[in-house]
Amino acid sequence: MEIPRSGRAALLPGVGAAPEFIDLPVQPPLPGQALIRVLACGVCGSDKFLQDGGFGHDKLPVVPGHEAAGEVIAVGADADAHLLGTLVALYYINAPQEGRWARSGRENIGPSIERMGVDTDGAFAQFITRPVHTLVPAPPGTDPAALAVLTDAVGTGYHALVRIARVQPGEVLAVIGLGGIGSNAIQVGKHLGATVVAVGRSQSKRDLAGRLGADIIVSAADGPDGIIAAAGGQIDVVLQCVGSAEMDRLAVDIAGYGSRVVMVGSCQESFSLRATDLIWREFAILGSRGFTRQDIVEVIDLHQRGVITTDHLTGQQRPLAELGEALADLRQGSVLRTVLLPWA
Ligand SMILES: [Zn+2]
Repeated sequence: MEIPRSGRAALLPGVGAAPEFIDLPVQPPLPGQALIRVLACGVCGSDKFLQDGGFGHDKLPVVPGHEAAGEVIAVGADADAHLLGTLVALYYINAPQEGRWARSGRENIGPSIERMGVDTDGAFAQFITRPVHTLVPAPPGTDPAALAVLTDAVGTGYHALVRIARVQPGEVLAVIGLGGIGSNAIQVGKHLGATVVAVGRSQSKRDLAGRLGADIIVSAADGPDGIIAAAGGQIDVVLQCVGSAEMDRLAVDIAGYGSRVVMVGSCQESFSLRATDLIWREFAILGSRGFTRQDIVEVIDLHQRGVITTDHLTGQQRPLAELGEALADLRQGSVLRTVLLPWA
């Protein structure tokens, strides 16, 4: 494919504003880079957070989109020509490869990371130029929409449970929030051998949690005592996926003796706790930020082996021009995910 001069892209112009659609010049790949034709990009809760100014007002204007898959159509002078035509998942973080954090396998954190779709223009666009080291080749024939959601929607919960909480077989895992992240954390938790307690507000999401393998399903409205009782009295790991200070507090309230509480949902409000909440039950509160390139490799493998399904995330697909509608659906909670298809 010839390198095109420009492609369509969706731009968030400012805090709270609706997306605009523009022609963006295509950047031919420099050494170490590849040009990708974006085939699919999921619309995530953090796109909503970005639109609300959660990442900082200075991040806008920007082209969002950080959960993407596409095809390599050009590579820079020194890059491997075998990449041409390859289906790839896009890892949204560009970290200094020689830096301390990337070298220790933690390229998702550090002072110098660049987030696609936040710090630099993202993949709600027909074309994007990315460093080759951020690309994860996928088995040919993988559905691009599935591949896109495997990165963030699945990878975030995987990272939280495998790398941060280090869930062990036989532990009791409570997942608060059964949306785009939490629904997949249920699948990952079952794969790790945990007993999974799904905590959700809406009946439809609790039904989904059951289909994805949750052992115990409760309503957040049952409150801490009801949830702990339903879980059998002891919760070992709590994964908090909702952008809500009330749910942050619920996560702490249901944490059992010696447990780990992992925060994943982004919320602008604070919550309070006493030191004795932590001390008496000797639990730890941990943050989990996104995922790593290696997490993507591993979740692609789980998907290939049929351990993880993405069907509940890829049913709603729209053309790029309907980003505004997709964000509105997310606000209303009427969909878990919409996948935009920039070539539709
Ligand atoms: Zn996201």
